[in-house]
Amino acid sequence: MLVVQKFGGSSVANPERIIRVAKRVVEAKRAGDNVIVVVSAMGDTTDDLIAMANQLNVNPSDREMDMLLSTGEQVSVALLAMAIDSMGEKVVSLTGPQAGISTNEVYSKAKIMGVDTERLERELSQDKILVVAGFQGRNPKGDIATLGRGGSDTTAVALAAAVNADVCEIFTDVEGVYTCDPRLVPRAQKLNSISYDEMLELASLGAVVLQPRAVEFAKQHQVKLHVRSSFNKNPGTIVQEVGSMEKEMLVSGVAHDLNVVKMALFDVPDQPGIAQKLFCTLAAQNVNVDMIIQSANRKDVNDISFTIAQDDLAKALQAMEKIKEEIGAKGFTYDSNVAKVSIVGAGMVSNPGVAAAMFEALADAAINIQMISTSEIKVSCIIKQDEAHNAVTSIHNKFDLDGAEEASAAC
Ligand code: ASP
Ligand code: MG
Repeated sequence: MLVVQKFGGSSVANPERIIRVAKRVVEAKRAGDNVIVVVSAMGDTTDDLIAMANQLNVNPSDREMDMLLSTGEQVSVALLAMAIDSMGEKVVSLTGPQAGISTNEVYSKAKIMGVDTERLERELSQDKILVVAGFQGRNPKGDIATLGRGGSDTTAVALAAAVNADVCEIFTDVEGVYTCDPRLVPRAQKLNSISYDEMLELASLGAVVLQPRAVEFAKQHQVKLHVRSSFNKNPGTIVQEVGSMEKEMLVSGVAHDLNVVKMALFDVPDQPGIAQKLFCTLAAQNVNVDMIIQSANRKDVNDISFTIAQDDLAKALQAMEKIKEEIGAKGFTYDSNVAKVSIVGAGMVSNPGVAAAMFEALADAAINIQMISTSEIKVSCIIKQDEAHNAVTSIHNKFDLDGAEEASAAC
């Protein structure tokens, strides 16, 4: 088998843990697998580097930030390769560019555009274990570009797709994907398997097990993912295409996201092209917009509300001043004290009562809903941030997710 194994920052946080990872990698190799390992920066290295940069410049350029942040992963690949070498296996560490990963031009949130596998294949054919730096690639200018926070997952999946690996194992400090955050609801259950679509929703909804882009990539290229613990050998959660027969569980998980800001633009002229101008301007600043609601018009004006990630707030505020003037809106407001709670489930499409049950759970907990959005497999509500915990617990109970493991095992 050819396997890609990805270890997150906490799994390589110190030399003891690096040795443990090295042992695990060597074990897979000695069992007969070809192994490509992808690692993140040690522990909180990335955060520490960001903090250091901010001490020197309040607004460092994205290019220099990428130059800086990419070093975190380079430290861990070199150290892991040394540990593996000391165990007697052939090994080589590679940066993203050395591994043939090319990206687009957007620093700090670059997308992987392709992987040239020539070097990877050559090294693999020499029976080496490859240790590749996650979270980075080479952009069209020849610079290092990083893939956005948590981007090592995407590196792992992209490599797995490029070399046609049998499985991409994502090792992490939890046992797999849960029905909701186990730190929030202790009775949360581990799911044995989940579809790409559900995982994608959970990942982008604030269940931080996997970078959403990684799941998207995995779905596109049908890469089988196995999310599992780096601390034990227990089977984790398999993420793969799930047939309709298996979509019996109505709701597979409840996600919450605190990294949300609600924005509203008031008294916007009711004319063609307004929404286009608003959202194109935000897109041009690389601000991702999530839920969008336009109210029914009063006379000849509308209100448009939408949500963005907290990290994009500064950029969005700048853009909004300009937009307000340009489209002649009366004003705008924003509120960071909100959270998004969502239910996700592939079996939801054909069951209209599911959304109603979620609203009932929130009503029972006396939680006010500020915005609602739905898709085929999810329902999301914006609520007050300090009510998020209560909301998740109440919804988790409503859908009986404490017994989820049995339910998914039964289908
Ligand atoms: N080190 C980067 C981060 O902390 C990438 C990763 O961990 O996947 O976001
Ligand atoms: Mg990380």
